[in-house]
Amino acid sequence: PCAAKKCGLATRRYTTTYVTRCVALKIIHLAVEHYRNLCAGSLSPCPGMNVIYGRNAQGKTNLLEAMWLFTGGRSFRGARDGELVAFGQDKATLNLQFYSEEREQESELTILNGRRSAALNGVPKRSPAELVGKFRAVLFSPEHLSLIKSGPALRRNFMDAALCQVKPAYAPLLSRYNHTLVQRNALLKDIPRHAELLDTLEIWDDRLARYGDAIAKERASYIEKLEGPARELYAGISENKECFGIQYQKSAENLREALAVARRDDLQSGHTTVGPHRDDLEVTVDGVSARAFGSQGQQRSLVLALKLAEADVLERESGETPVILLDDVMSELDTGRQNYLLNRLDGRQVFLTCCEPDAVKRLEDGALFEVRRGELYVPTFGAG
Ligand code: ATP
Ligand code: MG
Repeated sequence: PCAAKKCGLATRRYTTTYVTRCVALKIIHLAVEHYRNLCAGSLSPCPGMNVIYGRNAQGKTNLLEAMWLFTGGRSFRGARDGELVAFGQDKATLNLQFYSEEREQESELTILNGRRSAALNGVPKRSPAELVGKFRAVLFSPEHLSLIKSGPALRRNFMDAALCQVKPAYAPLLSRYNHTLVQRNALLKDIPRHAELLDTLEIWDDRLARYGDAIAKERASYIEKLEGPARELYAGISENKECFGIQYQKSAENLREALAVARRDDLQSGHTTVGPHRDDLEVTVDGVSARAFGSQGQQRSLVLALKLAEADVLERESGETPVILLDDVMSELDTGRQNYLLNRLDGRQVFLTCCEPDAVKRLEDGALFEVRRGELYVPTFGAG
């Protein structure tokens, strides 16, 4: 045993200057009723790696989605709340016991009449969004693998979803911006028929610029925080051969001015052509755009680095390691990247779904669960 171990310091395979492996946030127990195809299920995971396997359409992603909802966000599949209730039922209930802030906590979600309501430690919340920042998780799913290549919406989404958990005040800011944007766009469409409304546009421009600048500032500062860990992670994945870069790209430097300049165009098209809803994220490898020039393999490594960096930043900002949800990504990664990912997640609670548990059988410890037709089983070894 080395000296570091003796005095209680953790030794890690990948040393980073950014991560101080601290207390881990952990799920102790999850119970769901009439949630999607999960009728009445409960899960007591282990504190480390939890593999959830099963054939297609059995409920694996549904299970991760149920966990994700406790972050206070909406379904990562973009489902409306009502769609989360099992067919033929009118109410779904989800209960999560988790360990965070050095104590056991309990969160409850109910979905009734197409609406979600939440309670934390027995206290009802005004909105499920008030759960944001209490239970934190990072999700990595196959859709993320096209993060680099896809359109900018997915990249904005990546920043927004990450920021909401790092900074709970970001979510209401974003919704105020989006609300203002909808109002401004409606007004742009009305003005050609009601010229007298033109004056009110000023008010909306002011408001949009105020919220928009705040959003761009938050995103840019988040990307600054992400850059260091992501660069280091990418160096590790690509064995130090390539240099990683990331930058927040604003559609306008001064939004208030840009809105004034774009006004004629905006009135013609009926929508707002500048602002954070048009911003993007530029990722580069050795100084050139990864979106334009990156190979498939490079793009996968970049996404992996970004996702792991997201967890690192959340960890550093909150003081606790978030729960990691890996939906079906293992089969999409080659063995080298799989190993890197699993090693790097050591010490955190992970939920990993797959169709064939073979891919993860080489894991030394952890728990295995099978999902069959919406029911959870703990398989017994040696039984076939
Ligand atoms: P894959 O391996 O293909 O990703 P999976 O195990 O992740 O599969 P899920 O997406 O979790 O599968 O579950 C899909 C199943 O859940 C589908 O059969 C779908 O019909 C069912 N389902 C989705 N929403 C509901 C609902 N509200 N009520 C009942 N069943 C639902
Ligand atoms: Mg799935």
